[in-house]
Amino acid sequence: MPHARRKSPTTLDPRGVLVFSTRALGRQPGAAREEARRVPAPDNLRVELAGVPAEAEVEIAVRLEAVTEGVLVTGTATAPVVGECARCLEPLASSVEASFQELYAYEPSSAEDEEDGQVLEGDLLDLEPVFRDAVVLALPLSPLCSDDCPGLCAQCGARLAEAGPEHRHDGAVLPAWEALRQYDGFDTQDQTGRRDGAANRQEG
Ligand SMILES: [Zn+2]
Ligand SMILES: [Zn+2]
Repeated sequence: MPHARRKSPTTLDPRGVLVFSTRALGRQPGAAREEARRVPAPDNLRVELAGVPAEAEVEIAVRLEAVTEGVLVTGTATAPVVGECARCLEPLASSVEASFQELYAYEPSSAEDEEDGQVLEGDLLDLEPVFRDAVVLALPLSPLCSDDCPGLCAQCGARLAEAGPEHRHDGAVLPAWEALRQYDGFDTQDQTGRRDGAANRQEG
């Protein structure tokens, strides 16, 4: 799948799930219409820990308003999200609502528009790049299974929400790294070790 945000040079398919027609507006500034759709999510709507499953149903509501230079598109998209909790790594499911607003120009007016702006193709506009940017931006970077998720035990990796508040390792056999830290400063010892290693190599 091409990654470019540029519009493809091929003609838009009027039946595309994210292609909207502005024909009814007749390029009359002030003319507006609203449209709501349920569409299958395009591939690859995701960030590291969360994403919209491909083909999942996305609700889109848009308002298309003709202005002097083009058609102003304002809307929202609501999509299901699956991912994993950033603290305890348990699977989670939620949803995300993204808002967007973009001017689709009748004609590309400058070199900058050619690259970054959206331009109508005849009466049609391709909402996908705008929709995609808005949804990806709205995805949670650190999704949590619950706001107060206590995460994992730093020593044994147990889920603390399941292990309970009594979970601790006092009196138990300490993991090796913890023993090291208590013996002498863990970090200092590590550096000393490396220096010794270098000295040994010089001698040998
Ligand atoms: Zn969690
Ligand atoms: Zn533990």
